[in-house]
Amino acid sequence: SAVRQVSFVTSAVSIEKMPEERFPEAAFIGRSNVGKSSLVNMVIGRKALAKTSKTPGKTRQFNYYLVNERDPSDAFYLVDLPGVGYARVSKEQRIEWDRLFVDYVRRRRKLRVLFHLIDCQTGALEEDVRLMNVLAELLLGKNGRWNRSGADDLHYVIVLTKIDRRGGTVSPAIFSHLEQILEETGLLRWREVPVLTTSAQTKTGREAIWQYLRLLHKH
Ligand code: GDP
Repeated sequence: SAVRQVSFVTSAVSIEKMPEERFPEAAFIGRSNVGKSSLVNMVIGRKALAKTSKTPGKTRQFNYYLVNERDPSDAFYLVDLPGVGYARVSKEQRIEWDRLFVDYVRRRRKLRVLFHLIDCQTGALEEDVRLMNVLAELLLGKNGRWNRSGADDLHYVIVLTKIDRRGGTVSPAIFSHLEQILEETGLLRWREVPVLTTSAQTKTGREAIWQYLRLLHKH
């Protein structure tokens, strides 16, 4: 888990603006304030990465960072996906965002890990469930148009954040709720979904995240 360099590549608002697929990629998604920047910075060991604007106008930007670019056998794109669940966006903007997200997962074939961050204090909220439904349709091909065939090279990982605020443990109710949603959306029919517990404050879960980042070069 050695990070030698990290550089900002681009903020893309469409698939066409995303960088050439030269390296495998890992994406982080989650509601605003879930602790995404803090977690990414903790994982990468940088202080000021992933600072993105939180204004609604910028909600569609996919922020690309390149890690270890001088060593292609170890290089990967880290993609900071815009927050889901902005209270202020319109229904139309949400639909547009869903479309871009679906397009992203379907077409970026080097996307190998999607980390979905959920605050351990609240558990999955409406926007998280919506995201999981979109993902299920996409991966299970409920809607033929969306199917990412051969998606077995993609890992979907749920990351519970801020567990230090709960004394390092997560309430069983939060886990069983998650399990229920995974069951209901059908995601579990696709593959097992790991649930990691993390804290940017105490660095809990850093190694668990890296286990998935290391998979990026195992294909
Ligand atoms: P983002 O909007 O998802 O990027 O969230 P931030 O990383 O900016 O964090 C949102 C707020 O949660 C900030 O006040 C952080 O200090 C706090 N926060 C983030 N991660 C943790 C954590 O692991 N533990 C605690 N106690 N607070 C956190």
